Amino acid sequence: MATGRPALYEVLDDRFRTEKCAVGDLQLETLHVGSRWAEGPLYVPAWRQLIWSDIPNDRMLRWDEATGAVSLFRSPAGHSNGNTLDHQGRLISCEQGNRRVTRTEHDGSITVLADRYRGKRLNSPNDSTVKSDGSIWFSDPDFGITSDYEGVRGESEIGANNVYRIDPGSGEVRLVADGFGAPNGLVFSLDESELYVSDTRANQIRRFEVRPDGTLCDGEVFAEAKGTDGRFDNIRFDDQGHLWAAAMDDGVHCYAPDGTLLGRILVPNTVSNIRFGGPRRNRLFITANDTLYSLVTGVTAAPRAL
Ligand code: MG
Repeated sequence: MATGRPALYEVLDDRFRTEKCAVGDLQLETLHVGSRWAEGPLYVPAWRQLIWSDIPNDRMLRWDEATGAVSLFRSPAGHSNGNTLDHQGRLISCEQGNRRVTRTEHDGSITVLADRYRGKRLNSPNDSTVKSDGSIWFSDPDFGITSDYEGVRGESEIGANNVYRIDPGSGEVRLVADGFGAPNGLVFSLDESELYVSDTRANQIRRFEVRPDGTLCDGEVFAEAKGTDGRFDNIRFDDQGHLWAAAMDDGVHCYAPDGTLLGRILVPNTVSNIRFGGPRRNRLFITANDTLYSLVTGVTAAPRAL
């Protein structure tokens, strides 16, 4: 059974309360302890399960919402990191160790969607998001090749940490944004007019206008963390346009659409990733060090935030 305790949070702007980002009796529930470095939570509505990656242990786990049971989903898992669903409900995984993005088909077979850009191996895909046209956008920092801890130590053939787009028709891998220290989480705004990308090494979240042809305009800084505590990982929107960000040792940040930091959920571990889920899309799942947490919030996730 999950164990809960009152969640600690910090209100920096009154909208954090009035817009129901935090409600009075928030409870931080511990759903599982025992990963080495938990990452990539993904709620699968049809299964009422959450799957996540345990990167150094090269496995994926699943938590069953109906029973609270945790079991092994698969191992080895290519040192998978971020997971998402495409519009057909198929699992898209960023496999850091195998340096590729894959799709798990409904029959259980695995299709490689991207492992190279212009003939050069990817670094170590970290996280992805799917646009309404079916294109898959993913970040490719070097975290999985700098040591054998989160992947397999190796050289960067590309020599840069970029964001790419996989075309839904041709499968072509196109570079869409560069100039990052380490791109990480990425998500489209509710109307898909903008793409937001966190840069873990630059302590920033950048946003890019999406042109009608699917290319991006130059990015601008949306939010910046001070010091080293607030390094950003994954980011997700709720349906009011608040941007929620995994912020490592600074918990979970919540930003207004204008970039104001409204408040923080304080988490007693280093937060790697977040994802909304639950039947009403109001439950925030948090991976942090060895632990999977959840928090039933006062907000509802944007439809694509699952
Ligand atoms: Mg990540």
